[in-house]
Amino acid sequence: MSESKPRQKEKVEPEREFTKATSTSSEEPLSDMTKDKTSERRGSETASIKAHEFDPHFKHEISNFHGGEKLKQCFQCGTCTSDCPIARFSDSYRPRSLIRMALLGLKDRVLSSDTLWLCAACFTCTDRCPQDVEVASVIRIFRNIAVKRGVIPQIFKELGSNILENGIAYKIPELRLKKREQTGLPPLPKRNPKALEKLAKETGFLKKLKGSG
Ligand code: SF4
Ligand code: SF4
Repeated sequence: MSESKPRQKEKVEPEREFTKATSTSSEEPLSDMTKDKTSERRGSETASIKAHEFDPHFKHEISNFHGGEKLKQCFQCGTCTSDCPIARFSDSYRPRSLIRMALLGLKDRVLSSDTLWLCAACFTCTDRCPQDVEVASVIRIFRNIAVKRGVIPQIFKELGSNILENGIAYKIPELRLKKREQTGLPPLPKRNPKALEKLAKETGFLKKLKGSG
């Protein structure tokens, strides 16, 4: 009878460390996610609302603009907020809340919201919305209507004035222009602020910028 070989010890693979899902939103520490939800609850979305604030036509008004057509498809999943790079660093900016307020008809609240101007127009929300809502475009529409009402934050007024004066958003200091020349870079392309001013006059933007429209 042959001697049975001692049974080889089964090699046990060390248990794989449980790793988090790789989506941007789940990489956030739990504490941050909780903070987000808490601050969202605190936001204007749930602040006391009066009956006269509801404008049932607002969502239709937005849907009639290019880029706003799918607004009403939003089912409030929150993907836009969880993937928004600005919402991650802001206690108050929540694209989902703006969309929700628009669907509820809280027109004045949306258009006078300071947070409206924090959007960086990166289009992440639009790319990731499961309902194909063009969130970034909807926010642009909100801003355009706000501007028509004469609501333009000071910083945007300054940028607008710079563009009309210099043809670019930021005035480049002489020193930097000289340095550019010294390093052999080509001169900046010619700009035509006069044409921009004409456009601003024709569209009424100039009046809005000066606060007289
Ligand atoms: S990701 Fe789309 S469906 Fe989800 S809350 Fe944002 S807009 Fe609505
Ligand atoms: S476009 Fe605006 S709202 Fe959308 S993810 Fe970028 S910063 Fe956030």
